[in-house]
Amino acid sequence: MPVHSCRPVDQPLPVRIPGAVGLDRRPWVARAACLETPPEVFFSMEAADVFEALLLCRTCPVRLACLEHALSEGEHYGIWGGATPDERRRLAAIADPPLAAHDEEVA
Ligand code: SF4
Repeated sequence: MPVHSCRPVDQPLPVRIPGAVGLDRRPWVARAACLETPPEVFFSMEAADVFEALLLCRTCPVRLACLEHALSEGEHYGIWGGATPDERRRLAAIADPPLAAHDEEVA
């Protein structure tokens, strides 16, 4: 069963998950549980992949840092910090103070 909000099928796979290009200088990335996991798992439309990603995130020691990053950077696609895109949109909508204020705090 496809999961509707992971990634538009006509867009390339983002390469911005932990361990990949773009985030490798963030200190928390070195402790990410997903360093050895193919990025496709986190951006898949398949429920089995989404489930696998969410399970891995539950074991991750840097889950909150990852989630804060995704919220502050407005990551629209994929599983970040154990949250789906829809869950992150709901979190962003109720954030107080606004998420922009957290930008300086995320390592
Ligand atoms: S919370 Fe999930 S996506 Fe984020 S670093 Fe950990 S395993 Fe990777």
